Amino acid sequence: MTSAKKHIALLGSTGSIGTQALEVIASHPDQFEVEVLTAGSNAQLLIEQAQRFNPNVVVIGNEELYDHVFAALDPLDIKVYAGTAALCSVVQMDTIDMVLTALVGYAGLKPTIAAIEAKKHIALANKETLVVAGDLITSLARENAVNIYPVDSEHSAIFQCLVGEFHNPIEKIVLTASGGPFRGFDKDKLARVTKAQALKHPNWDMGAKITIDSASLMNKGLEVIEAKWLFALSARQIEVIVHPQSIVHSLVQFKDGSMKAQMGLPDMKLPIQYALAYPQRLSSDFPRFNFLDYPQLTFEQPDIETFRNLQLAYDAMNKGGNMPCILNAANEVAVEKFLNDDIGFLEMSDLIADCMHKVSFIEKPSYEDYVHSDLETRELAKALKY
Ligand code: NAD
Ligand code: MG
Repeated sequence: MTSAKKHIALLGSTGSIGTQALEVIASHPDQFEVEVLTAGSNAQLLIEQAQRFNPNVVVIGNEELYDHVFAALDPLDIKVYAGTAALCSVVQMDTIDMVLTALVGYAGLKPTIAAIEAKKHIALANKETLVVAGDLITSLARENAVNIYPVDSEHSAIFQCLVGEFHNPIEKIVLTASGGPFRGFDKDKLARVTKAQALKHPNWDMGAKITIDSASLMNKGLEVIEAKWLFALSARQIEVIVHPQSIVHSLVQFKDGSMKAQMGLPDMKLPIQYALAYPQRLSSDFPRFNFLDYPQLTFEQPDIETFRNLQLAYDAMNKGGNMPCILNAANEVAVEKFLNDDIGFLEMSDLIADCMHKVSFIEKPSYEDYVHSDLETRELAKALKY
């Protein structure tokens, strides 16, 4: 590498994490250089971002939009590619130091594997990749001496608490959850919630899929599995506590009983910046927390009988094998169906539980097994009617 700047490939640059990552990068031009930008189908924003950040390469997922993006960016000497295969090859470019995976869902798995195989460090926002194939991803990362830096705020909090403690055993971690817009609702009320209500998160402004996952507590379930793999923990070492103010971002308890927490106002730019800049802390003008604005920080037990998804995620993790992959695929279809008004809020859990019962279980899945289980689950999930 000729300069000391970190050269970043940003997968999913037009999304909620992607656009915030570009704000972080724009405020530290001495630290970061954008090498690659990619988007699924928001060609217009991708073009604008490329005009501003002048990457080497862009990839548009939707191949039908290739001509449009090419016409805009070829005159600027920016290479343009389309499709998933291109995503997997651009992350392997020599000029890249770090890949930020900010695309949503199972689509993140293949490019993340390609990046790790090319020995690129990963800033991981795409939690679904670790949910689907955590064993495969973490062992590949070990083999290739690749670090995976968490972007998810809870996991960033745990990571920040662990810096300087890597040789001290963890007794347990506590992931905080906001509880989402339906905290305190019973099943009757939940059965009647609309997608407009579910899409309004009290504390965070995020993409549609993770916003629904937050309302159903599946997001916390996916995060429990994500934490297991990131920090090599067992299920009984991972607790969830509802903390509606989202100020304490998560905690670690060590074997002497001491607890460390990381706190701050909810703002994803902080964990994004920490993952990109680690081990440095860069300056920021993000709003600062004031205790007097929050005289009460409160904590309560999650209601896993009403919000079944969190329990289903624990079940999938305990079962292991391809079960978390099945959970994830069923959930992706369930969220899509809920957003299309095909099923109600509670039926998302029914659909996931049914898939977990019906799809063939594989104890030690290979990569091909994960691909197959994902497909098998999606087909079943699409066919199921409620
Ligand atoms: P989003 O929907 O806002 O953005 C997704 C991005 O991925 C977009 O750029 C989109 O164009 C791209 N994309 C979507 N499907 C694709 C495909 N098939 N192929 C290639 N590109 C595709 O999502 P988001 O809220 O930014 O979340 C991204 C990831 O980060 C998710 O895994 C989410 O769980 C995780 N995450 C998000 C937040 C948050 O605050 N938004 C917090 C923690 C973790
Ligand atoms: Mg989170």
